[in-house]
Amino acid sequence: MSLSVEATPARSEETAATVSRLHAAFATGRTRPLAWRKAQLRSLRSLLVEQEATFAAALRADLGKSAAEAYTTEIGFTIGEIDHTLRHLDRWLRPRRIPVPLALQPARARTVREPLGTVLIISPWNYPLQLALAPLVGALAAGNCAVVKPSELAPATSAAIAHWLPRALDGQAVAVVEGGVPETTALLEQRFDHVLYTGNGTVARIVMTAAARHLTPVTLELGGKSPVVVEPGTDLATAARRIAWGKFMNAGQTCVAPDYVLAIGATAPPLEAHLTAAVREMYGTNPADSPDYGRIVNERHFDRLTALLSDGRLVTGGDHDRADRYLAPTVLADVDPDAPVMREEIFGPVLPIVRVPDLDAAIAFITARDKPLALYAFTASAATKRRLTTATSSGALAFGVPNAHIAVPGLPFGGVGESGLGRYHGAHSIDTFSHTKSVLDKPLLADPLRPAYPPFTPLKSRL
Ligand code: NAD
Repeated sequence: MSLSVEATPARSEETAATVSRLHAAFATGRTRPLAWRKAQLRSLRSLLVEQEATFAAALRADLGKSAAEAYTTEIGFTIGEIDHTLRHLDRWLRPRRIPVPLALQPARARTVREPLGTVLIISPWNYPLQLALAPLVGALAAGNCAVVKPSELAPATSAAIAHWLPRALDGQAVAVVEGGVPETTALLEQRFDHVLYTGNGTVARIVMTAAARHLTPVTLELGGKSPVVVEPGTDLATAARRIAWGKFMNAGQTCVAPDYVLAIGATAPPLEAHLTAAVREMYGTNPADSPDYGRIVNERHFDRLTALLSDGRLVTGGDHDRADRYLAPTVLADVDPDAPVMREEIFGPVLPIVRVPDLDAAIAFITARDKPLALYAFTASAATKRRLTTATSSGALAFGVPNAHIAVPGLPFGGVGESGLGRYHGAHSIDTFSHTKSVLDKPLLADPLRPAYPPFTPLKSRL
């Protein structure tokens, strides 16, 4: 992956034409009225309701996603984001009155939200529908034109988005550009008013470098290794079920999934047994036969993941079938902190357990590494919660359940440091895709500012 990837001239011209068409549409003001924004959101909602089966089939083709998971984590999730936005948009967009200092009165000050213009949304393959459309909800709600670039690694979903979005939305304001590196490179040559990229840190650097040429602001939604701290005294059976649920949904290919467990004190052995039981409870004795268990996106990722299986003692899982891109929900114990499985984001159904003696060691382990997208803890102690809140940094921190914070629409979603830059969802999407403009309005009638004008006298300089 490098900037040396060239977009072919023909592709550049076509992309340039698409983007300038959107810039021109934005300049007409068609995307500004609240009525237009709400109509777009309602159309998108209807599309998701009417074509639920189409999108679910595409997600199954790309990732073996069950219809239930396709709904809760992608289609229904996006509908929820639309509903939340429609419910609150009037309030979010209302100008805010700002107090004016006495010396500047009489005057009125307020902030108004203005759309940025034309934004680019580049999305990844793991939640290929949600991660293309949830940012689009924010971009449209804020009154922007948008180009959506779905991931080429989820080709069925990409094709479904490219087919249906232009039919549901204002084609003058929204475009879908399909493709991989050359197409994205061609897009990044263009000037956008904001770029929201979801994916890995290597490409994020390419995106940010390209955006810098136009001084375009970016939101980078990245990943990393999200730890789960498990303390003695917590209900380990429930903890194991929730960890297994968060880890093995979408076959572990979830940016906020628990990446590894830091088992404090004597929690590791019982946790291993509970995780084994939880996997069996959810996916049966042979998860390959479970209609609820997904597949690895492609052979490259399958090979990368199976190479990690020898990095610890196998507690459960380990079975795999390359032809089916199947890798069983797998738990590894007694994992060395320096093993390869602990170096890179796993992004698959392999859960290493690392033993640590106490909370201090767990915190030291976490803070010695890149800031994670999420940090989870299972603890019965309020003091532990307080310490984790103040002593660690992560995109999000959740006690008692992994992944679920992204379904709280009022919470911002984003990382910090290596796990990302900026945030979105709900009102935070309006922040991301708007400019907050300061407006000051001072009547000309009286001119109490006269003492502030030159020539200055010793008395005036103290005003
Ligand atoms: P990916 O390979 O689908 O890439 C993401 C996007 O980048 C695609 O649209 C792709 O076409 C484009 N791209 C790839 N190479 C490029 C290049 N050289 N130049 C320009 N564009 C390029 O997805 P991925 O990166 O494998 O996604 C997985 C990563 O994303 C994981 O690290 C995961 O944690 C992270 N992630 C983060 C979130 C989040 O919301 N924070 C969500 C999902 C995934």
